[in-house]
Amino acid sequence: GRHHDDRRVSGFDYQGLRFDQDSLHVFAGLCAVDTPEHVEIMMKAVAAHGQRCTRMGAYKPRTNPYAFQGHGKGCLPYVFELAGKHNIATIAMEVTHESHIEEIDTCLEKCGRPTGVILQIGTRNTQNFELLKAIGRQQRYPALLKRGFGITLNESLNAAEYLASEGNTQVIFCLRGMKSDYGAPHRNMVDFSHVPVVKRLTRMPVCIDPSHSVGTRDHGPDKVMDIAHATAQGIIAGANMVLVDFHPEPTKALVDGPQALLLDELPRYLDDVALCRETY
Ligand code: PEP
Repeated sequence: GRHHDDRRVSGFDYQGLRFDQDSLHVFAGLCAVDTPEHVEIMMKAVAAHGQRCTRMGAYKPRTNPYAFQGHGKGCLPYVFELAGKHNIATIAMEVTHESHIEEIDTCLEKCGRPTGVILQIGTRNTQNFELLKAIGRQQRYPALLKRGFGITLNESLNAAEYLASEGNTQVIFCLRGMKSDYGAPHRNMVDFSHVPVVKRLTRMPVCIDPSHSVGTRDHGPDKVMDIAHATAQGIIAGANMVLVDFHPEPTKALVDGPQALLLDELPRYLDDVALCRETY
């Protein structure tokens, strides 16, 4: 079958880190890079809590064409240099066009490869087959493929197969919620019960993105924190990676400020992840 041939995706090592169906890495970071100061505060916090991974958006796929589109390649030099300074092994970074791969590669080369990059394919591009093929053709950088928000799980798994069929078997599959009115007040219907399903059907490590699933850090009247709860659900279900938005000053964030967790919530968040992991 499609998921059982010898191109089947399994675990891999990257930047001294293991990514497979048993590993667990938290990629806490900025949804979008805004200032070098915020990037450094974020990386410092992540490193201070023993983490070696982060997320940083330079190329942002926005619904509104007039909204901030990300700093693009202009921010890459300071993002990579700061990552090196703070011993960050790898950054999850979305690319929305094939040319961004080259921009990232050229910049990393220029600054002496102080860190690694996992190329993220966003939910709006899950079936951008030419982008998938381009990321599949190169094998220097692993890929993090987001599930499509409005297509079947099987269609999203086929998209992952595009990466593998072109030669890139370093693929992580990310659940990030599905579009549904029934998801309200969350931005998306959280789909983390599919973690074990994807692990059964494929050999890809499975990531969860509670931030883009839930879409708000607001506490309900019962003070239950939905992003933390969704994270717990995903970890208990066996997630191998967490992509989560934090921001030193969410009111100043240029993208998705309302869903960014506060930096002083990071230690508790990481403790909760570790606790849930023990339960799994
Ligand atoms: C993101 O992770 O920055 C993002 C835009 O996510 P998604 O593609 O899941 O909406």
